[in-house]
Amino acid sequence: MNRFLGILAVVGEDGTIKVPLDMLQTAGIKPNSKVELFSDTSNLFVRTAEKFCDICRTNTNTTSVGNQEICKPCLDRITQAAQEKSQTEAE
Ligand SMILES: [Zn+2]
Repeated sequence: MNRFLGILAVVGEDGTIKVPLDMLQTAGIKPNSKVELFSDTSNLFVRTAEKFCDICRTNTNTTSVGNQEICKPCLDRITQAAQEKSQTEAE
């Protein structure tokens, strides 16, 4: 038996599971957003399927930078801008 790691939730007749909002928040899942579910023989996984870039608002895979979620193209732009800036300052 695995050590009990989480909280107990009761599954409703219709399959409804109430997940505490702070757990959703930790996982980056916002109310009314879509999640991806997958399961194996003893686990059910819930993963956010909607991640939005804080800069361009694109629904895509994002990287956490500080407390922001930033997509790859925006991250590349920022990195490049930072490099150009430091090059200018070095001259
Ligand atoms: Zn972006």
